[in-house]
Order: sequence, then structure tokens, then C-alpha cells
Amino acid sequence: MENNSNESVLIIGAGQAGIQVADSLRAEGFTGAVTILNDEAHSPYQRPPLSKDYLGPGSTAEPLPLRGPGFFADKDITLLAASAVSVDTEARSVTLSGGMSLGYTHLVLATGAANRALPCPGADLEGVHALRTLTDAKRLQDSLSTARKVVVIGAGFIGLEFAAAARARGLEVTVLEFAPRPMGRALSATASDWFTTRHLRDGIDLRLNEGVAAIHRDAHGLSVESTTDTRYPADLVLYGVGVNPRTELAQAAGLETENGIVVDAALRTSVPGVWAVGDCASFPHLDSGARMRLESVQNATDQARHAARSILGDESAYARTPWFWSAQGAIRLQIAGVSEPGDEPVLLGDPESGKFSIALLRNGVLAAVESVNSPADHIAARKLVGRGLAMTPEEITSPGFSIKALAKTVASVPA
Ligand SMILES: Cc1cc2nc3c(=O)[nH]c(=O)nc-3n(C[C@H](O)[C@H](O)[C@H](O)COP(=O)(O)OP(=O)(O)OC[C@H]3O[C@@H](n4cnc5c(N)ncnc54)[C@H](O)[C@@H]3O)c2cc1C
Repeated sequence: MENNSNESVLIIGAGQAGIQVADSLRAEGFTGAVTILNDEAHSPYQRPPLSKDYLGPGSTAEPLPLRGPGFFADKDITLLAASAVSVDTEARSVTLSGGMSLGYTHLVLATGAANRALPCPGADLEGVHALRTLTDAKRLQDSLSTARKVVVIGAGFIGLEFAAAARARGLEVTVLEFAPRPMGRALSATASDWFTTRHLRDGIDLRLNEGVAAIHRDAHGLSVESTTDTRYPADLVLYGVGVNPRTELAQAAGLETENGIVVDAALRTSVPGVWAVGDCASFPHLDSGARMRLESVQNATDQARHAARSILGDESAYARTPWFWSAQGAIRLQIAGVSEPGDEPVLLGDPESGKFSIALLRNGVLAAVESVNSPADHIAARKLVGRGLAMTPEEITSPGFSIKALAKTVASVPA
């Protein structure tokens, strides 16, 4: 290994991806200075529990740290409480919120994403919340302890996870979704419809094809006016209507952006010495070359590991199979691969039992598998998706077919 003790890596963002880059650099033998900028008011923590256990009934859950005590000192990683305000890619330096500048040999942008604003009157009223950070979650935890009626705007993953947590606390929960299906952009219609039935059965008033028109506050409290002119009283409103990648620093520094910071297959941006990873990065799909941006722990972690190797000179292309999970009350959804609207769904198992998977075929190739309360299927699917496996619906539905058995056979054949 080359001696890199004279080099330095500066990482902007102390989230899932930023911390992993630092960890992987040390694991790969980087001996130069590693500095991470943390612009949040807390030590680095995991986001997924914030919409799940952290807000559930009787939660005394503390935020889960991204690394254990002593990690930063043990690995000689400097965690600096500061925000980056500008990047000079010619001079290779970053100006921090306090006015100080830091130089770098390699810069990693791991700036994540920010919640999209709710575009309706009343979105800024007190009692209307978004959820992205631990600060947001703490505020919600406080409000939930006195709330009785909750309105959730947006039936995406975060909206539904929050709705299930609030329902489990015994609150009255209404969810408004302007699209015809929940989680419609990420899930097959079959899985999405199953979730609709299940959430309704669990007492969540899930209203589809019904958006928000305005939010009001009067002497009785908040109320949400929907696009069908219905008014829903609420003690608390949560909206989850998607996120935007945080590209402002990159844009101002002249880096190419297009729904994210544009990176190549090695996760390098358009400017030498600068990488981008995680929610903020728009990367090329290995097979199709189409640009994609993913918002998941897997993507943040695997890209961070890859970027660390790329910084150390590895030229290989990033090519990990995406996977994702969501927990909505007692329901655990796991997805291997990324589905597309035209994919052909093939059901495995019985949805009535509450445990099943859906294989999604694209032009006769296994493109994704959605698993509901079937973790073993999911683990097997992660070994199968992305291998270009040709399959037919008849094979998948034939008696005795098992995704786990297939994974065992395929795993013995090199990809
Ligand atoms: C409530 C919630 C639940 C989720 N649940 C799941 C789940 O169940 N499964 C799953 O796979 N994924 C889940 N996700 C998504 C997952 O957490 C993200 O995909 C992941 O955290 C992305 O990591 P990241 O490091 O790219 O971005 P982030 O974790 O967002 O970290 C980016 C950091 O950069 C900081 N930053 C931005 N600009 C600057 C600047 N100029 N200077 C300094 N710092 C800056 C931000 O403040 C932030 O701390 C969830 C997300 C949320 C919000």
C-alpha cells in the first residue's frame, strides 16, 4: 500500500454515508488525516428508528448512535461540529460556518437530503411537523404524548411508519395520499394494495386519491382541509412528501448536478479530488447506465465503502444490488432490487397469511423481490437479483419452487 500519511480526506456530512467513508478509509489502511463535518446538534445517529421504535408506544428508546463510544478517538478521526458553507475546488479548501477554512487532498460530499416543503397554505403552522432529524423526532415524541388525533400527509414510507407508530399508541390516525396507492413509486401495485387493506384493518383511516388543500388553526386547534373539501381535525400533523438531495454546496462550487450530485461509476464527481455518496449522489446504473439516486441505508453504506476504496486508487465500478426495508407497526417490508412500473409481478406465498413475497420480472429477468414478513426470502433474493437471471412466471409458481432453494443453487455458481 502507498504511503498516504501526507494526504487528507475531508468529509462533509456526519450521517450514515459520511461516517462510513471515514471508517472504511481507516479499514483500508489510509493513514492521513480524516475530518468529518457534523452540522447537526447531536452526535452521529441512525435515522431509521426515528419513524419507528423511537416514536412507538411507551418508547423510552434512545437514539441509536452510528458508532460506539471511543470510535472517533480510536480511529484517529476528527469529528468537527461545523457546517460547510462553500467549497473552493481550485484551492482545495472548504470554508466553515465559523469562517475558518480547511484544506483537503480529497473531499467527500455526504450531505444527504432535505425534506420537500409542503406546498399548501398553513404548512408553517405550529403543530405541523416534518421528520428527518433527531431534533424533529424529539419534538414529535413530545407532541405525541398529548395528542389524540393525528393527520399524516403522504403515504410514503415515512408517513406510513409514523402512522403505524401513532396508531400503536392508540391515537386516531388519518392518512391523506393524493395518489391512488400508498408507496406507489417504490412498490408493485400488488404489494401496495395489500398494505392499504392491512393499514385499514389496523384502524388507520387511509384515504387515497385525496390530497391536502390547506391546513388551518382556530380556537379548536388544527384542521386539515383535503382536496375533497373534507376537514380533518388534528392535534398534530405530520407530512412526508419526499426529499430533495442536498446539492447546494456542490452547485455553488460548479460541480455537475442533476437530481443529485453527478458521479461516475467510481463515485467521483465532475471535479477532480471530489467524491459524492449516499442520498445526495446521482450515480450510473451499472447495466443500463441510467442515472439513479437512492435513499437507503444500504446505498449510503455500500457507496461509502466503495468511495473509500476509490480514493485509495481502486478504479472498479460501483455495482451493489440495492436493498431496503421499512417497518410499519408489526409489518416488515424488505425489497431487493429496484422495481419499475412495467415489471411483471409474480406472487410467492399467500398474502392472506400476512407473509409473502412478490418477484418482479423485467423482460423475463428477475429485477426485484418485495418480501412482507418473509426475511428468509429477502436474504435469498439479495443473492439472486442483479445476476440477470432469466425466469418465467410458470417456473416461479410451479409446485416446490422456493426462492431460498434457488439462491442456494445459484450461490454456488460465480456471478
Ligand atoms: C425518519 C427516517 C427513517 C428512515 N428509515 C429507513 C429505513 O427503514 N430503511 C432504509 O434503508 N433507509 C431509511 N431511511 C433513509 C436513510 O436513513 C438515509 O438513506 C441515509 O441516512 C442516508 O445517509 P446519508 O449519509 O447519505 O445522508 P444523511 O444521513 O441525511 O446525512 C447527511 C448529513 O449531512 C449533513 N450536512 C448537509 N449539508 C451539510 C453541510 N453543508 N455541512 C455539514 N454537514 C452537512 C446533514 O445535516 C446530515 O447530518 C430513513 C430516513 C429517515 C429520515
